[in-house]
Amino acid sequence: MDEHELDLAIRRTAEFIRTSKHVVALVGAGLSAESGIPTFRGKDGIWTKFGEPTIDGWELFRRDPAAWWENAILAREEGSEFSVAIEIAEPNAGHLGMMELEEMGRLAHIITQNVDNLHQKAGSKAITEIHGNRFKVRCMNCGGRDLLSRTRLEQLPPLCGECGGVLKNDTVMFGEPIPDDALRECYRQSALADLFLVVGTSAVVYPAADFPVMAKRRGAPLIEINPEPTALSGLADVVVRAAAGVALPRIVALLRA
Ligand code: NAD
Ligand code: ZN
Repeated sequence: MDEHELDLAIRRTAEFIRTSKHVVALVGAGLSAESGIPTFRGKDGIWTKFGEPTIDGWELFRRDPAAWWENAILAREEGSEFSVAIEIAEPNAGHLGMMELEEMGRLAHIITQNVDNLHQKAGSKAITEIHGNRFKVRCMNCGGRDLLSRTRLEQLPPLCGECGGVLKNDTVMFGEPIPDDALRECYRQSALADLFLVVGTSAVVYPAADFPVMAKRRGAPLIEINPEPTALSGLADVVVRAAAGVALPRIVALLRA
């Protein structure tokens, strides 16, 4: 996509946003790439480079939560490339652009697949974290969430202060069902959307990848912001082939003008 085509796509996106009433965004790892957090798939993705993990985290957790926590605490002390990147990351121009769209009343809701807390750090408010949040724990019994930093880890597994249930990290593992509250809100938002933005996701993880398709079927236009083609590109009404940190501030500037 040359600069002229990109400019046109950005203008069309701004116009679609301007004329919509309930814009919902589905966000993926690509939005945080410019904050130094590697994606899984795509050109520089860690799975593209090293292959996909085969571990069934959910199975391991259910079999022995205490052992899972012991490993997790050790791993945190060692600090993998991915977890260190998330610890030190700051929101980038893309996150800030989304926060501004919300503040301007132009973006109703963010459904994020990211677990890095960067939307909150940027100041966004209406967020559903469909794959959880790396800085939180969640009760397997009552579904309550708390900050990991506030959770006592002397006894493993840690237990819920409200109901005594086993606490798990909030991040949704392979094989683990999406928490009910998050899933319900995603379906609700997808049904309300009259425009869907898909930002920085390869759109192959389900059910997340279904939300824009559901909205599109009901007639909501679809806009993709991603430097590379994805499974959704063919369905999109507008494709913005650029990094989110480049495209979103330009969209915001047009809407402010
Ligand atoms: P993915 O890794 O499958 O795909 C990333 C997508 O982002 C690719 O299509 C790539 O072309 C695009 N991309 C790369 N740089 C971009 C940029 N600057 N601007 C816009 N797009 C860009 O990511 P996914 O679809 O989110 O699926 C991965 C799963 O792994 C998610 O469900 C998430 O839970 C988890 N994950 C989270 C983080 C995070 O929290 N930051 C990081 C990696 C993976
Ligand atoms: Zn509980």
